[in-house]
Amino acid sequence: MECKKETAKFCGNILVRKTRRRSFLAKSLFEGVFGVLTDGSFEYYHSSAQWTKGEKPEFSIEVFNIQSVEEVDDGAFSQALCFQVTYHCRTKKDNFNTRNLYLAAYDLDEFESWLSSLRLACLDNPVSLTQYHSGRFTGKGWSCCKAATFRSSSGCKTCTIYGIPDVKKQKLSLAIAFHGFGVVARESHYSDMPGSLPFNTGDHLTVSDASGNVEWKAFSTTSTSGYGYIPKDLVKLKSLEEEPWFFDEIPTSITTAILRDQVPGCFILRTSGLGTRTILSFRTDRTVKHIEVLLDEATQKYRVKDESDAVSYANFLQFDSIQQLLDQCKQHPTLGITLEKYPTIKNADGNCRGREVV
Ligand SMILES: [Zn+2]
Repeated sequence: MECKKETAKFCGNILVRKTRRRSFLAKSLFEGVFGVLTDGSFEYYHSSAQWTKGEKPEFSIEVFNIQSVEEVDDGAFSQALCFQVTYHCRTKKDNFNTRNLYLAAYDLDEFESWLSSLRLACLDNPVSLTQYHSGRFTGKGWSCCKAATFRSSSGCKTCTIYGIPDVKKQKLSLAIAFHGFGVVARESHYSDMPGSLPFNTGDHLTVSDASGNVEWKAFSTTSTSGYGYIPKDLVKLKSLEEEPWFFDEIPTSITTAILRDQVPGCFILRTSGLGTRTILSFRTDRTVKHIEVLLDEATQKYRVKDESDAVSYANFLQFDSIQQLLDQCKQHPTLGITLEKYPTIKNADGNCRGREVV
């Protein structure tokens, strides 16, 4: 391998599975190219000269769009040291916008270097696949698992999670249903209106529906077990740190590992960059997604950062608080996000995050 440009994190000769129409006489499905991994992209060129001259690459993807980097069975393409990069492709018009790039290394050292460099570069990517196929799609099915008959059938193997050798130390307990967010009563409240929930100053309530402009639906977590409408102006939000579904600084890779083993709809709210960013991580059918929750500077309201197709119209939906944003995701998956549960995490030393379960 050679690294002539400062911008390259890793580069070298590599084989790529040919994408153009193949001749029946061609001996190999793969052709030699020169691969380059930079901070922002993975690309390949016909030759290293093409790259050093600053020519346009034959192929380029943003690292940001990579969803998994996994090995491929030797038998899949009769090619050893083969691996695949699964990525999100924005230009495709239909819904199936996930593609696989099949690559192969010339020797074991290079194979391991490519895998580790690519995986390292993808550590904080917004979407991680939970499962993959280690074989090839033949048109009738996957060579790795005869059962799956569609290209999009969910994978038969669990994706590698990068950079966390000690994830097995984390013991997961069952996920807990997400009822809502906590508020504390500023003053006492009583009303004759049917369906109204009375409360006293200092009572703790859980808001389960914050869609109303004047009243929210809540249940009391201190005095009674009542359920009903409360005037939202008479309560104040608990801080996020007090919420059982809020986790402090957890790396993306560990969050992915935690949520991968949970059901779709399971989520964690966490901070990143020493508290400078707030990230909503959640499990979907096939992936774990990490999206940033931002305070919009113009409106001083909270919204999710538009990073994937699933949340493309998210910019139009803004909320007074992060809690209300999460409530909206729980009530109506308007943002393309469904939040139903959150996990509790037990470390090997017995510390437990999540307050409702020991
Ligand atoms: Zn499979």
